[in-house]
Amino acid sequence: MRHRWGRYTAVGAALVAFTSAVPAQADPADPFTGSSGLGDPYYPMDGNGGYDATHYDVTIAYDPPTQQLRGSTRIEAVATQALRTFNLDFNGPPISKVTVNNLPAWFDRRDEHELVVTPTLPLLPGLAFTVQVEYAGPVTGSDGEGWVLSPSGGAFVAGEPHSATSWYPLNDTPLDKATFTLHATVPQEWEVMSNGSKVRDVVQGPDRTVDFEMRQPVIGYLTTVAVDRFEFLEQRRANGTPLLSAFAPDALQAKEMELRLPEILDFQEELYGPYPFDVAGGIYVDTELQFSLETQSRPIYAPWTELDTVVHEITHQWWGDSLSVKQWSDICLNECFASYTADYLWPERKEGADVDGQYRETLAKYRDDPKFWENALQNPGVGKEFTSVYYRGPLFLHALRRTLGDAIFFPAIHEFANAHRYGNASMPEFRKFLQSKTTQDLTGFLAAWLDRTEPPADEYLYPGSLRS
Ligand SMILES: [Zn+2]
Repeated sequence: MRHRWGRYTAVGAALVAFTSAVPAQADPADPFTGSSGLGDPYYPMDGNGGYDATHYDVTIAYDPPTQQLRGSTRIEAVATQALRTFNLDFNGPPISKVTVNNLPAWFDRRDEHELVVTPTLPLLPGLAFTVQVEYAGPVTGSDGEGWVLSPSGGAFVAGEPHSATSWYPLNDTPLDKATFTLHATVPQEWEVMSNGSKVRDVVQGPDRTVDFEMRQPVIGYLTTVAVDRFEFLEQRRANGTPLLSAFAPDALQAKEMELRLPEILDFQEELYGPYPFDVAGGIYVDTELQFSLETQSRPIYAPWTELDTVVHEITHQWWGDSLSVKQWSDICLNECFASYTADYLWPERKEGADVDGQYRETLAKYRDDPKFWENALQNPGVGKEFTSVYYRGPLFLHALRRTLGDAIFFPAIHEFANAHRYGNASMPEFRKFLQSKTTQDLTGFLAAWLDRTEPPADEYLYPGSLRS
């Protein structure tokens, strides 16, 4: 994600999202009840215990004039314990029916997004099962947490860390990745975009049905559906990877910038290893959205997006989408890398920018500004995930690079990204990994940059070539 005011400014520093974290609830003592949350330190009720989702097959019909959504989602999962009852996360339209293994199931909706399901027959550990949920009603969600309406009358889904629950039930946690298929029906004059390969686009009578397949595992907030009067751009990378991008009516001017996508992917691949997905592209909306978002294989770009934001969101395909956080306190793995790549590495390698000069200038400006240092990079706190990682994250990685030297830094981050491909990683793991790559003791450096809320000492602030 990159906020419109993502760089450090008075406005940026004030951008602290309101949070609605619900305190963890004690689960019933019943050992056959899957837990209703996974205890993320920021969002304890996100995700659910007792099963592992392996595939989502989402069928929706959306009618732009009435904003009505009809959905039928099939979840394939494997029970990891005996289950009499388990939860899904969903806060979309009213539910008419839930079945488990094709038998009617009892269900109840609680709190912000808990859907409690009790199958007719208990589920046995290690066995696969399917859940089908039918629902219909008007779309819900405000800016940043679900559905967003577009000027043409279309709509799309965007939000981090929550948004998927507004359109399909799921295990909404970075820890449970699954493959994803979408079948979307809209009035035939509308177009549909989503993640992965577009495998069908058929007009039948008044309806258009479009199917997408995301064949690599994906997390909820990285899935999207967008319905608009799109124009498309098809490209192909030199290695054959197909690129499909869409532009809302007032976003057509972005087409020229999107022509650089193959070049951006080549640039990232050299840094971080093979592009993780089998297709790529972008969705350029024309709604006054305050953020762009790294939705998997196809980021959503707000109208103010310039090339640096495209580089940022494409970096997330490695840092955030393929390698994902274990907990939201690990957010620096996503945003520090996306910001460093877009703000330092691209300008340095593509435009010959003096990045040491840029680093020193930034510090000269903000070293004595306490607000600049007030949120730690690792574990910044709930509601503060999207603050310092943007403006101090790049400084941290640049200082780390000058501490380790290019010969260690670049192979190391390449190795880390690939070691966690399609998986999860944490900041503590990243710190341990970095220490394993050098004989220098990094303890002081990493604590000063990642844990403290004051400027690091000069030895950590100006290592290597930064010492003037
Ligand atoms: Zn970002």
